[in-house]
Amino acid sequence: MNFRLKKWVAAASATALTLALTACGGANQSSPATSSSSSNKSKGKITIGLSLSTLQEERWQRDRDSFVAKAKELGADVSVQAADLDDAKQIAQAENLISQGVDILVVVPNNASAAAAIVEKAHAAKIPVIAYDRLIKNSDVDLYISFDNERVGQLQAEAITKLVPKGNYALIEGADTDNNAHLFKQGQMKVLQPLIDKGDIKIVYDQWTKDWQPNNALKNMENALTANNNKIDAVIAANDGTAGGAIMALMGQGLAGKVPVSGQDAELAALQRIVAGTQTMTVYKPVKKLAEKAAELAVQMAKGEKVQTDKKINNGKIDVPSILLDPIVVTKENIEQTVVADGFHKKEDIYMNKK
Ligand code: BGC
Repeated sequence: MNFRLKKWVAAASATALTLALTACGGANQSSPATSSSSSNKSKGKITIGLSLSTLQEERWQRDRDSFVAKAKELGADVSVQAADLDDAKQIAQAENLISQGVDILVVVPNNASAAAAIVEKAHAAKIPVIAYDRLIKNSDVDLYISFDNERVGQLQAEAITKLVPKGNYALIEGADTDNNAHLFKQGQMKVLQPLIDKGDIKIVYDQWTKDWQPNNALKNMENALTANNNKIDAVIAANDGTAGGAIMALMGQGLAGKVPVSGQDAELAALQRIVAGTQTMTVYKPVKKLAEKAAELAVQMAKGEKVQTDKKINNGKIDVPSILLDPIVVTKENIEQTVVADGFHKKEDIYMNKK
């Protein structure tokens, strides 16, 4: 831990000002006025600790790869740890990174609340922390960078209610311990509630999916079908993993392709289901953009430079300087103009099974 970082964190208490959120900066606008308060700021290699909840899903591997590549380009090293969905393991790994003397920690919390301990420990060692994709609650986390997660939920529900404006809905939500899962649901409910109030839509099943595991989503969907004698007209699944589980359960009852299902992440398997007709939509979040922006900010913060953000989001303790990027709806109709055009997936891979 070097002098410049101590300075950065010292400045961070004044962060309401330094990170302070000028209304002018768009999420993609890159930064900022630098404060070169120390002449040796540019000397010495920066090391970033990247602590992930899991690397199981396709998206997190992309996040890691883009983050590491960008950091490298900027002359920084990244030490990556994945916690395999284990809160205690993530805290232990973060402690390890802290004692290795990383200059900054970038954390995808497995558990929004438990990860507050990581922020505390990092700050005790004068190391700033960025919450990546998922907010760390009830902590003094220094920055939050993600997508507009409420909007993700809204896009999911809009796509499904367009096809099924009336009927029985099952909600296969994400992990209760992930703040994003709550934001996705909030966004969905914005669209669903008026239709529920009108009596057009009935939520006949509503369950969190432990650890976001497709297997747990499958069991939930089986329970939903059994409890309702298969009378389910639409499924809002929070991401592509849970959608995959839900679709498997529908398949078991001969209902796959008959009941619209939402998703999120634009995973290859989900896009293949979309062209096969068993999944209705997904939400594409350009994670390369997110990862690269986060790497840039991490390097800046590690150098003690000021960063600009465009929002503040309350995490139960403070208003966290935040940056939210825009998510994009993907259906059968716009696959080529979105994920293919962006180089996220190859057309031949998506249509692999459609000969
Ligand atoms: C992310 C999603 C992801 C889910 C499960 C959420 O916090 O925003 O993109 O599918 O976690 O890993």
